[in-house]
Amino acid sequence: MNPQTDWLALSRSILDGAAITRAQALAILNAPDDELLTLVDAAFLLRRHHFGRGVGLHVIRNARSGHCSEDCAYCSQSAAAGTPIARYTLQTADQLVEGARVAHQMQAKRYCIVTGGRGPATTDLATMCEAARRIKAEIPIEICTSLGLLTAAQARELHAAGVDRYNHNLETSAQYYAQICTTHTWSDRLATAQVAKAAGMDLCSGGIIGLGESREDRVELAFALREADADSIPVNLFNPRPNTRLANQPPLGAADALRTLVMFRLVHPNREVRVAGGREQCLGPLQVLALYVADSMFTTGYLTTPGQGYEADVAMITGAGFHVAEVENI
Ligand code: SF4
Repeated sequence: MNPQTDWLALSRSILDGAAITRAQALAILNAPDDELLTLVDAAFLLRRHHFGRGVGLHVIRNARSGHCSEDCAYCSQSAAAGTPIARYTLQTADQLVEGARVAHQMQAKRYCIVTGGRGPATTDLATMCEAARRIKAEIPIEICTSLGLLTAAQARELHAAGVDRYNHNLETSAQYYAQICTTHTWSDRLATAQVAKAAGMDLCSGGIIGLGESREDRVELAFALREADADSIPVNLFNPRPNTRLANQPPLGAADALRTLVMFRLVHPNREVRVAGGREQCLGPLQVLALYVADSMFTTGYLTTPGQGYEADVAMITGAGFHVAEVENI
């Protein structure tokens, strides 16, 4: 076995402080299916060292759905898409606080409030800040918000209200992004990630795998997130939505998805790596293997699509010898 394909040796070197190179990351994505379990094992070495067997549960709340001015090719919430989804205006602070209470009852570590749209209007921000202040005062749960593009002042306002983390995905490589969206740029997205971090919030930023990007694009995304110092990396596995521009995109294979998750783990050994939207459809019976790589997941579904459900998620976690991560130090 040559050094580049001795996956456990590579993982041990990362544990000892080495950083994976782009060439090594690409080699993971090009590895044959017969090496899949060895790759998962290599990722598990890092996952177990940094996170044990805990799985952080996140509950996502779609606080405003549809009618978005942007034209992201994968998204059913874009006004340009004709997908039949629920469309509604911003939920009230009362509804958002109640959602946090329910998430806490599910042992969720983090409650993620998401609004479709380019960025928050002043009134939206005021509602979010009110909800964040009340959640912080009443419920022991971390708060993440995902409200689109932000200014530095908006980021500071959210942080001052108690928002712990801001989500803004880079989605794919800088080079490929123009194929996906024409109404804003990858640089716009990076700028928001940077202002969120500069305001003192943790940065949650990841992407969607399977949009037609190359393996090199996936590596570029993983390294861009490392440069952006992302604390949490959601890896969505593309689940094509009807009547979007990417409705007919060929599905991502389960082995391909797992290799990509492994690559993200080796690039981000001690950061939260989340197996996110699309895991049920894409991974099928291999879904449980993602737990050996990722240390967190969403439960109760995603923005416009359901998941397999909280009880099935917990049964999968405990059945494989993992456990729901404790909610600590909140
Ligand atoms: S991903 Fe966000 S910004 Fe893009 S169309 Fe969907 S809701 Fe709008």
